[in-house]
Amino acid sequence: MAYLDLNGLQKSFGANQVVKSFDLGIEKGEFVSLLGPSGCGKTTVLRMVAGFEAPSSGVIRIDGQDVTALRPNQRNIGMVFQAYALFPNLNVAQNVGFGLKIAGVPAAEITARVAEMLAMIGLPEMGARYPFQLSGGQQQRVALARALAPRPRVLLLDEPLSALDAKIRVSLRAEIRDIQRKLGITTIFVTHDQEEALSMSDRVVVMNGGRAEQVGAPFEIYNHPATRFVAQFVGTLNTLDGVVTDAALGEVTVQGQSLRLPQPIAAAQGATVGLALRPEVVHLEADAAQISRGDFALPAKIAAVQFLGAVIRVKADTAAGAISLDLFNRPDAPPPPLGAEVALRFRGQDVI
Ligand code: ATP
Repeated sequence: MAYLDLNGLQKSFGANQVVKSFDLGIEKGEFVSLLGPSGCGKTTVLRMVAGFEAPSSGVIRIDGQDVTALRPNQRNIGMVFQAYALFPNLNVAQNVGFGLKIAGVPAAEITARVAEMLAMIGLPEMGARYPFQLSGGQQQRVALARALAPRPRVLLLDEPLSALDAKIRVSLRAEIRDIQRKLGITTIFVTHDQEEALSMSDRVVVMNGGRAEQVGAPFEIYNHPATRFVAQFVGTLNTLDGVVTDAALGEVTVQGQSLRLPQPIAAAQGATVGLALRPEVVHLEADAAQISRGDFALPAKIAAVQFLGAVIRVKADTAAGAISLDLFNRPDAPPPPLGAEVALRFRGQDVI
């Protein structure tokens, strides 16, 4: 059995079933994200693990122990919330030491542990400051230190980065992951931000309507989404129309040109199917006139260009639908102008 084992968890509020038969096993030291749109039940799962919400049915085990009926303070779990939730009238050292004091840990030991925690979060000199004297990012690091100080068995993070500005958010991702790895603490991270989930996690659970749609490593989830919902929620997805010519062989035509997909198609010959493509597998040929006969290439017209820095996202209209694609920025290669006639190439094996 996994270190943290959620078995058949369900939760209803009145007639509204918000978590539906949720199973998940998390190994010791693993970092797992719950990712999904607003209202899909992520926070409710986390609150059940923490003990703030009682499941309508199902069992929660930590290290083999059934904790389903235990109160939150009996579970030995650390938690960090979106709002910093530090005690405003306590200084940083007192905030970090709070859980230890409640547990009756001797003062000298608290002092040592607090110093260790503040060093770990990179704020060794800030013990005497009060929360209002800290930036948002520093407050979240203190909240993390406070959660970790009692050496919990499991760490629960509920959108801890969403109130911070973009740059801090990205640097704190790496910092949190670093600390989590160093301590080897089993962690569940709740987020609706797919980039956060993909960049931080050992495994991602994509949730939809109270269920886990797919559980897998970020690479797997992104490249081999199990359902259309996962494909659309994780990353950007192009969909364009193809007509099935040989379902068993996975052959379609797009605008009269033949394409071989990586697997058989579950649709009849002649049916129109949606082909899903990530922007980064579509290549742009600036000069449509140069396309040689026989190669798969869709004529297209540049409809929008978004300069994002390292990447340039281009939207091009084709007769089979609009397609977004990504170009890597190169100082000597400005993006094509709006309205330019281009050609788009992609391989059948890149269709997901
Ligand atoms: P968000 O990202 O918006 O926080 P979430 O995926 O975390 O969304 P939950 O907070 O778990 O979603 O909520 C799932 C559903 O359960 C929502 O429809 C919410 O309104 C409902 N819900 C949550 N808590 C309660 C409660 N105490 N009483 C009634 N309904 C609730």
